[in-house]
Amino acid sequence: MTVINEKFNVNTHGFTDIIDITQKVKHAVYSHSLQNAVVHVYVAGSTVSITNIEFEPGLLVDLPEALEKFAPANGSYHHDATWHDGNGYSHVRASVIGNNTTVPLIDGALQLGQWQQIVLIDFDNKARTRTVYVQIVF
Ligand code: ZN
Repeated sequence: MTVINEKFNVNTHGFTDIIDITQKVKHAVYSHSLQNAVVHVYVAGSTVSITNIEFEPGLLVDLPEALEKFAPANGSYHHDATWHDGNGYSHVRASVIGNNTTVPLIDGALQLGQWQQIVLIDFDNKARTRTVYVQIVF
């Protein structure tokens, strides 16, 4: 088994900022000219997520609206009572969405659907710089 580690940084605005990182992941993977591998995409942090979405204007409003109902930004959170950083909702949203995705590389192509993009969503209540790790295993 061989492991290749790649990483890149993403600057965000916070507040459920949804950023398409598909091209950055493709660049990290395709630069190695591999045929078959497991590609694991992971972001470090407890107020940030990685998931998949059709990156189109409607869903870029629908998903934040759904998450606002689920974990409202102005809700009451025990985390905020303890840490006074006001981002309890950020942690809850990030925990539910998760911080990684795995994409199979088959015959030299990442197996993403035609309307499926890999996105980073920063839920924190301030701008952040996030590090995305792409681990390629074959
Ligand atoms: Zn916090």
